Amino acid sequence: MSESNGAIQNLLEELAELPGIGPKSAERIAHFLLGGDRKHAVALSEALRAVADTVHPCKECFNLTDRELCPVCSDPRRDASIICVVETPRDVTAFERAGSFRGLYHVLGGRLAPLDGMGPERLAFTPLLDRVRRGGVKEVILATSPTLEGDGTALFASNVLNGSGAAVTRLARGLPSGSSLELANAQMLADALDGRRSF
Ligand SMILES: [Zn+2]
Repeated sequence: MSESNGAIQNLLEELAELPGIGPKSAERIAHFLLGGDRKHAVALSEALRAVADTVHPCKECFNLTDRELCPVCSDPRRDASIICVVETPRDVTAFERAGSFRGLYHVLGGRLAPLDGMGPERLAFTPLLDRVRRGGVKEVILATSPTLEGDGTALFASNVLNGSGAAVTRLARGLPSGSSLELANAQMLADALDGRRSF
C-alpha cells in the first residue's frame, strides 16, 4: 500500500492505534477488509458506528451498556445486597466471565493517581455512597487492582463508606500483585472473592 494513498493510510494509522495491534497486524487487517466483496469492512464500520453512538455508562453502576440499565443491574436474580467495586467495565467482564459473583457492580472509572491528575472527584465515589445510603446494601467488596494505586483507591473508598452501614471488604491477595483483574483466570477471581477480608 502506497504512502500517498490517503484513505488506506488513514485506516492503517487508526488500526495501529488499537491495543495489541502493530503496523504489521494493521496491514494484514486492512488487506483482509479490502479484499473480496468488502462485506466485513461494511459490517465492521456499522458495528463501530453503533457502539460509538449507543453505548454509555449504566445509570446505576457505570458499567457500559446500550440501555438505561446494564444487563447486570436489570437482572432481578442478582443479589442487590452485595456491591463489588471495580475500576473499569473490563473488570466487570472479567468477573462475569468467571461467573462466581452474583451481586451487583459499581465501576469507579479508574483508580486514584494524584500525580497523573486522577483525583477522587474524577471517580464515581459519591454515586457509590448514594447507592449504599439508599439502603439494602449489606456488603461492599473493594475489588480494585492489587497495585499501590488500587490499594490507595480501596482505602479512599472505605473512608467514603465509613458509617454508611455496609460492611466493607477487600479481595483476598490471591491475585498476582501489580496485575490487573482482567488477566486473572476464573479460579483466581473465585478464590480472591471467597477469601475476602474485612477492610
Ligand atoms: Zn449497571
